Amino acid sequence: MLEQLPVVIEPLRLAEAGRQLHGRLPLAEFKRLKPAPAPALHEVRGEVEVDLEFGKDELHIAYLRGRLRTRLQLICQRCLQPMALPVDEKFALGLVTTDEAAEQLPADYEPLMVSGPMELAEIIEDELILAVPFVPMHPVGQCPAQGGQEGRLKDKAPHPFAVLARLKKPQ
Ligand SMILES: [Zn+2]
Repeated sequence: MLEQLPVVIEPLRLAEAGRQLHGRLPLAEFKRLKPAPAPALHEVRGEVEVDLEFGKDELHIAYLRGRLRTRLQLICQRCLQPMALPVDEKFALGLVTTDEAAEQLPADYEPLMVSGPMELAEIIEDELILAVPFVPMHPVGQCPAQGGQEGRLKDKAPHPFAVLARLKKPQ
């Protein structure tokens, strides 16, 4: 069941109550997820489907677990053509109020510093930005540039690490 996502949430209260939230947000709503200055992002359109679960685990750690599903419009950095990247990202955030608590979180949580009400879109946007690859490229075999002259030349060039390995070998 999809419901309207709240604009502002109080994460700790939702964790106490064990609430779940489902809904969609338009990608255009994210102010930091813009085509410029990020050159890899082609355009911002579509929606992100959001599933969130707030609760407390057996160690009494308040958490926010979530799943984001969307398609990002990116620019392939090999052929410089637009490409759609399906995103299905899961995350687990430990809700903390102090740096000490953040440091003590088990490794399966990323800390989320909580101080009262927060904009839900901000939290979602942070996770979405992490899902954008640093150098987006078409999958192998689907990139128009791969059959091109440049692609072939690149394939023949020795891998930088291979060069390094040769340099390191004793004479
Ligand atoms: Zn490409």
